[in-house]
Amino acid sequence: MAQISIIGTGYVGLVYGVAFADLGNDVIGVDIDADKVEMLKSGECPIFEPRLPELLQSNLKSGRITFTTDYAEAVPQSEFVFICVDTPSTMTGEADMRAVRSAATMLADHLRDGAVVVNKSTMPIGSGDFVSAIIGEHIPNNRKFAVISNPEFLREGNAVADVFRPDRIILGTDNDHDAVERLKDLYRALDAPIVVTDRRSAEMVKYASNSFLATKISFINEMAQICERVGADVSVVAEGMGYDERIGPLFLQAGVGYGGSCFPKDVKALAHIAHEADCHPQLLHAVMEINQDQRRRFVKQLQEKTGDLYAKDIAVWGLSFKENTDDMRESPSIDIINMMLSRGANVRAYDPASLERARVELPKVDLCGNPYDAVTGADALCVITPWNEFKQANMGRVVEIMRNPVLLDGRNLYSPAVMKDLGFTYVGVGR
Ligand code: NAD
Repeated sequence: MAQISIIGTGYVGLVYGVAFADLGNDVIGVDIDADKVEMLKSGECPIFEPRLPELLQSNLKSGRITFTTDYAEAVPQSEFVFICVDTPSTMTGEADMRAVRSAATMLADHLRDGAVVVNKSTMPIGSGDFVSAIIGEHIPNNRKFAVISNPEFLREGNAVADVFRPDRIILGTDNDHDAVERLKDLYRALDAPIVVTDRRSAEMVKYASNSFLATKISFINEMAQICERVGADVSVVAEGMGYDERIGPLFLQAGVGYGGSCFPKDVKALAHIAHEADCHPQLLHAVMEINQDQRRRFVKQLQEKTGDLYAKDIAVWGLSFKENTDDMRESPSIDIINMMLSRGANVRAYDPASLERARVELPKVDLCGNPYDAVTGADALCVITPWNEFKQANMGRVVEIMRNPVLLDGRNLYSPAVMKDLGFTYVGVGR
């Protein structure tokens, strides 16, 4: 059993906090957001993530996890302090390290001798040195500490399962092998391969992994554009490619492009890091450009089917950046809907989990409590997020209640032939 502080109780920190608690450790989650801390203390889960509420409640009940806004309540007794704060993009594309800087400064005052600080947030190459220097500057009485880079790979929507069964654990250290052994012990229960390397390589593994996955998505989206012109179906092309073990089937679904709190900012940040290092990251730029193009192309295709969008009623299914999450950060839906609104369309939208977030992100959208209200009287339906609920919706009913049965399937959820038989004017991606 270890004493652990988790700094930042968002999508990553909260899931790790409850998972470590569930494994029998003593965990304190620290967050500067007092409202979030109050919710968590009362057992209310501030995010939509399958299995998380049950896990939070059972571990609160057992007393293995608590929450606070006060570093002094958590850090002094902790052997491990995990930094899980946000590192969003700045205007120039580099990672915004203000939350990391402030977390490192605040935890340094309270760090006990021999504590291990674990950088779990996604941070630019060299951040292990950056965090180490801040702590070194502020820590009292020359207490010893180690900083390990331990990037995270969980997927929102599947985060609990991913944390308990990760594909790999990456630990980066420059000199502290004792700290790595202790961290390996903490992770032993997860039974995953552990790669130990230097801090910079560990940090780079994260950026390279996310950039590679984003590249697969942009690759198949470029193939989709070609398929449309040459009369091929990208879904079948991806299936055929995916059986090749060297390629694999994952991340080859053509659609409106990637979004979320990680891929967009991490590809941008790696391109920025590359520029700073005098490299010319042409592939990364192409990946980002294709991703933006998918959103523009989607709206262009909508206009081709409905004519001028001015005063048209457009229904949208799905607002979160992917299924099984309420996260709307950098969701393709935001750009797409803003393009529709700027052309004068009225947008009515439904999402199973992110309506509350949408009230803030998309205040001009009419939000509906179910998918059928959104499509009633609509001139087109745009499916943007592949929630299960949409895959087997009653499309026969949908075609009847729409004014114009135009269906833009931004995730290739439906069979074009079946939709055409039902009476839809169907547009998929790359088919
Ligand atoms: P998040 O925005 O959901 O959560 C961050 C939390 O940190 C917030 O609750 C915020 O209030 C808190 N915080 C900010 N500054 C703080 C401070 N000084 N002290 C204490 N708390 C503070 O972010 P997230 O999605 O959990 O991501 C965290 C990090 O993990 C990011 O670097 C992200 O790139 C990385 N990551 C995220 C995912 C993902 O799927 N969300 C996956 C892998 C890696």
